[in-house]
Amino acid sequence: MSHDPSFAIPSSASKNSEKRILNSQATDPNKILPMKYKWAREHYKKGVANNWIPEEVNMQKDVETWKNPKALSDDERRLILWNMGFFSTAESLTANNIVLILYRHITNPECRQYLLRQAYEEAVHTDTFIYSCDTLGLNPDEVYNMYSTIPSIREKDEFVVNMTKSIIDPNFSTEGTENIQRFVHDLVGFYVIMEGIFFYAGFVMMLSFLRQNRMAGVGEQFQFILRDESVHLAFGSDLINTIAQENPAIWTQEFKATLTENIKKAVELEYAYTKDCLPRGIMGLNADAIYEYIKYIADRRLERIRLEKVYNATNPFPWMSEVIDLRKEKNFFETRVTEYKSGVLNWDDESPANPTTPTQ
Ligand code: FE
Ligand code: MN
Repeated sequence: MSHDPSFAIPSSASKNSEKRILNSQATDPNKILPMKYKWAREHYKKGVANNWIPEEVNMQKDVETWKNPKALSDDERRLILWNMGFFSTAESLTANNIVLILYRHITNPECRQYLLRQAYEEAVHTDTFIYSCDTLGLNPDEVYNMYSTIPSIREKDEFVVNMTKSIIDPNFSTEGTENIQRFVHDLVGFYVIMEGIFFYAGFVMMLSFLRQNRMAGVGEQFQFILRDESVHLAFGSDLINTIAQENPAIWTQEFKATLTENIKKAVELEYAYTKDCLPRGIMGLNADAIYEYIKYIADRRLERIRLEKVYNATNPFPWMSEVIDLRKEKNFFETRVTEYKSGVLNWDDESPANPTTPTQ
């Protein structure tokens, strides 16, 4: 029988110094203390501090705006729908990747604890689009098929799916330098490209509505998702860096060049998606400014995983970094839904502020 990393139990008491993220006989997946990777624990706690559910966000004004034919232009509706179309299926793609692929190979218990937390957050994000479709009365057949009917969305999804084909093979193992490279290559696809680049044009577009206090409920949902995703990206980057440090043989010039090329291709796909969402400038936004932003964040992602930056772009939206750092209790929404049943909304005006939430 082949070695199954999911259930590896070491034969003798293990030392922290012998533990590795991958292929470690010293790792007992059921023994979380003493912990080796403190960063995994920190990301877990940040995730818990950001806890939210979509029903906390008041959608009443959004419903009025969406149903009023004069309140939004055709271009504004297109932008919102395209982003709903991309995110609604991308969130479950990420959740499936974590549960079906990553969890099996990452046996370290503090990393697994984070993966469980992240999987839950992806379930909350998936729930957000159910809630938004439901409250706004969007056609689910339309929204949930956009990953196949809209070419610029399909190309992003296909890029990530193709990038992860090798490790989805049930016989894939992380033994040996080449397999570790395949694994890290795919981690870059999941964390850096999907969660770190492909979500960010959408975040800028949807948060621009929020800044104008229009479709602010949907905007707040995206703001909460953005904050979660920035932790997912940080965990993924620490995971990639730690695997690379523990397996220095993988980090060749050729491998680094491949990863950089993938990120550059992702930037172009994200630009194509942006032009499709936003064919004409609206709300002081245009596709070229967002392209500049995508290049700016791509450089940050490259540096975060110890690759050289390529674009030297400047950030046209410095307010985006403020949004990422905004604590939940500082959020400006005043009301929350206390009950949501078959389209009937009841509200109270209690703030969900949590003064005990630690700062990031
Ligand atoms: Fe997500
Ligand atoms: Mn995520």
